[in-house]
Amino acid sequence: SEAPKTILVTGGAGFIGSNFVLHMVSKYPHYKIINLDSLTYAGNLDNLKSIEGNESHVFVKGDICDAQLVNGLFDEYQPDAVVNFAAESHVDRSIVNPQVFLETNILGTQTLLDAAKNHWVSNPDARYIQVSTDEVYGSLGETGYFEETTPLAPNSPYSASKASADMFVRAYHETFGLNTSITRCSNNYGPYQFPEKLIPLMISNALEDKTLPVYGDGLNVRDWLYVEDHCIAIDIVLHSGKAGEVYNVGGHNEKTNIDIIKIILDELGKPSTLIQYVEDRLGHDKRYAINPNKMKDELNWEPTVMFEEGIRRTIRWYLDNQIWLNRVKNGEYQLGVL
Ligand code: NAD
Repeated sequence: SEAPKTILVTGGAGFIGSNFVLHMVSKYPHYKIINLDSLTYAGNLDNLKSIEGNESHVFVKGDICDAQLVNGLFDEYQPDAVVNFAAESHVDRSIVNPQVFLETNILGTQTLLDAAKNHWVSNPDARYIQVSTDEVYGSLGETGYFEETTPLAPNSPYSASKASADMFVRAYHETFGLNTSITRCSNNYGPYQFPEKLIPLMISNALEDKTLPVYGDGLNVRDWLYVEDHCIAIDIVLHSGKAGEVYNVGGHNEKTNIDIIKIILDELGKPSTLIQYVEDRLGHDKRYAINPNKMKDELNWEPTVMFEEGIRRTIRWYLDNQIWLNRVKNGEYQLGVL
């Protein structure tokens, strides 16, 4: 099948989406990337500063739930692929206000699927990639791994909305033959991550000598992957993944939250007295761990950045980009590009 030339990327001003857009623009300069993002609090055009003026990237401010807008983009640009990152992504926010998670994550996905189905009738090679999460599988005990065949058992409103979206992606493949693949990745970290998420929050607080809030006993386990490795995995699934398939993406990098926080304090030379245990998150999943063998065996993907290297790079990035961080923290990032 022919390689895609025009890709509709949604959520490309967020953390992973912007890393993916930067990856694609530099690796495939002959592609056109249409980047649709509504710029919620999580969207930040500063992330795309380095490709400003690059003609292979078109930014469109808009909502993936807006069917007229989405269909208009299909008519205008005739994309041969969609990569859907757009989502409400923060579990804590989904506990406080689930509604917008259903709107963006479920209805938004269905809007994109419909547009793809209607515009790709005579283009069976056109690919729809849903960027999902290992959180749809629920929580693991001390042992075992999430397989692609693990039953979905989401525990938070966030993961329930992502699982629901995955079901619609599956249904559009089964019912309409849409050429879809789903990636389910573990926790990402790296440049441009909004400082509400564990790693950038802890770096940011430590830099200001503020306390580092740790949920519960700090022993929840996440399987961390450097964001660039996730972007490479999506690139490979986009080009070589099979229709109707799910791919688990993970780095075999299981760490407890408290381990991560100690590494950050160590690297920054800050005291562990900054650590403050706080009441646990409601429904807090104990452990996530991915079996990534399918990505390795079928698509020859493996992580390239080990955790010790990735976390050092990430800390360095936040140290070198304190203007980015401060503009996020004081809200200036929403007023216009740097
Ligand atoms: P993020 O919150 O940093 O970015 C989300 C982006 O989507 C933002 O730019 C936001 O403005 C945009 N957006 C939100 N609602 C929109 C709407 N209705 N229309 C258009 N744009 C909208 O999220 P992220 O961490 O980069 O995650 C991206 C995707 O990857 C999500 O689908 C998430 O579920 C998935 N994922 C994330 C992780 C992780 O560790 N961060 C792991 C696995 C999967």
